[in-house]
Amino acid sequence: MKQNKFYFVVGSQHLYGPETLQMVDADAKTMVDGFNADANIPCEIVFLPCVKTSSEIADVMNKANNDSACAGVICWMHTFSPSKMWIKGLSMLQKPYLHLNTQFNRDIPWSTIDMDFMNLNQSAHGDREHGYITARLNKARKVIAGHWENADFRKEIGVWMRAAVGYKESQSLRCLRISDNMRSVAVTDGDKVEAQYRLGWEIEHYGVGDIINYVEQVTEAEIDTQIEEYKKYYTFATDNMDAVRYQAREEIAVKRFMDERGFTAFHTNFEDLQGLRQLPGLASQDLMRLGYGFGAEGDWKVAAMTRILKAMTADLNGGTAFMEDYTYHFEPGNEMIMGAHMLEVCPTIAQTKPEIQVHPLGIGGREDPARLVFKAKPGAAIVVSLVDMGTHLRMIVNDIECVEQINDMPKLPVSGVLWKPMPNLKTSAEAWIYAGGAHHSVLSYDVTAEMMRDFAEMAGIEFVHINKDTKIADFRRELQYNAVIFGRG
Ligand code: MN
Repeated sequence: MKQNKFYFVVGSQHLYGPETLQMVDADAKTMVDGFNADANIPCEIVFLPCVKTSSEIADVMNKANNDSACAGVICWMHTFSPSKMWIKGLSMLQKPYLHLNTQFNRDIPWSTIDMDFMNLNQSAHGDREHGYITARLNKARKVIAGHWENADFRKEIGVWMRAAVGYKESQSLRCLRISDNMRSVAVTDGDKVEAQYRLGWEIEHYGVGDIINYVEQVTEAEIDTQIEEYKKYYTFATDNMDAVRYQAREEIAVKRFMDERGFTAFHTNFEDLQGLRQLPGLASQDLMRLGYGFGAEGDWKVAAMTRILKAMTADLNGGTAFMEDYTYHFEPGNEMIMGAHMLEVCPTIAQTKPEIQVHPLGIGGREDPARLVFKAKPGAAIVVSLVDMGTHLRMIVNDIECVEQINDMPKLPVSGVLWKPMPNLKTSAEAWIYAGGAHHSVLSYDVTAEMMRDFAEMAGIEFVHINKDTKIADFRRELQYNAVIFGRG
């Protein structure tokens, strides 16, 4: 996370003379040092000398574009900075853009304030001049106002930074498709050209035979090492070590196949296993623990999104998982959704140490697969779905509260999450279905809806948020308005 850099670009002009500009730089340096020492700021902010001309601004934006470590640009107008000089640079900028509206001093120094002070501390109107040009250029951006030493202000910067790190990850993301989409399923499919254009994803298909070649080359010694790795994280609750060792073999093969080709996300398809003896269960789960994105049934969108959400919060340990709406609990006053998948739930969301178990699987027509079984932890979280509307990509986010799982389900040997969606199950489900949200999603305890809103702004895709204040009539109207904005009027 700390390897991601953000340029801090402070706007000014030559009107005030060199002494004022020296003060601008000194104040900006103090601010950057303060940000970098704060745990709420997850990435490094790079101090740069203040910009005074159109060519200086173009140069710094060009540098940001070409610096692969730079995940975004943060601007602030310490003094007035006539914004026509920003047109060229802002038009060139291809990285996420944050406009801070702050001020070095918190309070007006009543007894000493004079015209020199006013010349130096002008963000109250300088940032408005700047806001005009970003609005005029329709620049994708985030605006955060407040004093730079305020903790909430810094937390907001941190949220935006995480979104920008996700966007940076998105731009270099490569997703491995093992086989194609599950036959006849609509929501897991979509326009891969649009996904590459908007989100940068390279989505590449390989036949199952290509993976099987790697599976066959894995050695018994490599499997022994992988089993030792499993022992660090999981409890063995099976005697069927042959099944567990086969999952280890699949994990080593898929990981090697991905690492050799730069893939960081993948999907399987239980309809197309060919010579694979088991559907990858434990293998997929452990690869998610390592940070790879995963989707089942050919769902490349959810695989890529799982990877991106994990990248946004790589320094945190709250957990992010591929998820599926499984079953409803309609008990009056205690309505909930059980989320799970037949095998592939990420162990980073487990409350207790996951158990390796082996059970039959009713679909896929192969041997009993080993899988991790656990209950997920309680806590606030979100679920995220990305769907292809034909005209554009739509992101749907629902705030949820995961609850303690007090009941055992001895005849359902899968990992599960139990949650209460906001504002309630009825409104959440209706809104999600009106929006066309998938049954597959990414569930995260670390990522927030605001992060995903910022990410969607960066990518230029539609974003809708189902939350504690959602009303169905308003939500449907929002979808109608958005349909006009995104070309489906
Ligand atoms: Mn599924």
